[in-house]
Amino acid sequence: MPAELIDGVAIAARVRARVSAEAAELATHGVVPGLTVVLVGDDAASAVYVASKEKACREAGMLGETIRLPATTTQAELLAVVDRLNADPAVHGILVQMPVPRQIDAQAVIRRIDPAKDVDGFHPVNAGKVLIGDPDAFAPCTPAGVQVLLTESGIETAGKEAVILGRSTIVGKPMASLLMQAGRGADCTVTVCHSRTRDLASHTRRADILIAAIGKPEMVTADMVKPGAVVIDVGINRVDDPTAKRGYRIVGDVRFEEVRAVASHLTPVPGGVGPMTIAMLLANTVRAARLTLTR
Ligand code: NDP
Repeated sequence: MPAELIDGVAIAARVRARVSAEAAELATHGVVPGLTVVLVGDDAASAVYVASKEKACREAGMLGETIRLPATTTQAELLAVVDRLNADPAVHGILVQMPVPRQIDAQAVIRRIDPAKDVDGFHPVNAGKVLIGDPDAFAPCTPAGVQVLLTESGIETAGKEAVILGRSTIVGKPMASLLMQAGRGADCTVTVCHSRTRDLASHTRRADILIAAIGKPEMVTADMVKPGAVVIDVGINRVDDPTAKRGYRIVGDVRFEEVRAVASHLTPVPGGVGPMTIAMLLANTVRAARLTLTR
């Protein structure tokens, strides 16, 4: 039987409905959750992401603002904007869209954001909190979204072998931190693989839960997957396709059709992990707003 598809669009819609309800409830306390995105430069893909974040905020009854800065913005100018947003009580979440132009040190910018407003979850304070299992942590949106896909799909994670392909700071490492914790959607035995891992398939074939976040189109083939495994494909890769209207199509890191024949559950690309990322950004922002009531 082919794998059951995990419908990220439907699960993200459920998360967004919960976020909207919580935003409405917060509004009764006089708090309208607000996310400010800072976009430096005119990268076309970033502009699309930022517009969709702003729209998603508005749809959830939240304030979504974008500050657009020229590509020539200096590091000092950007840090001054972050300082201003840190001090603004109407701003609960701050996100500086990456990548930033070359003259700006991205890490310095991330470290300047107040960890209590770091809804992207990239500040070292939040990375540390995720690692120690602090419930106040803002976890990075993509791995947090993967965890919600697992729990909402009723997939038992406790005691399972989870193998993560990729060790980036935005996906692989926080994914490992989340899955190794004690608790719901976690309690896994985690292996993290990367480009220096020897005999990758010997690890992937042990996985009850295989999470691919490597950015290599369709690299995970059926022979790398244990029959009945849950496969989560984080990859978003553009491949040339002269038959497609735009001349390209988007594929994941997993060879979809053949892995579907082996796995028990599989996320499609698009429509799997992707929609969860924005949903979790909204969820983090609403939580940041809620936390201001108790501070
Ligand atoms: P990075 O390029 O930062 O990291 C890729 C990781 O994969 C690295 O750790 C790298 O190893 C490892 N890797 C690369 N090639 C191999 C290989 N042949 N075998 C084993 N490991 C390998 O990517 P990201 O983590 O940012 O993103 C990964 C994918 O997820 C991309 O396709 C990206 O577009 C997508 N993505 C999707 C999101 C979503 O919302 N769905 C959000 C974020 C990312 P090493 O460290 O040794 O170089």
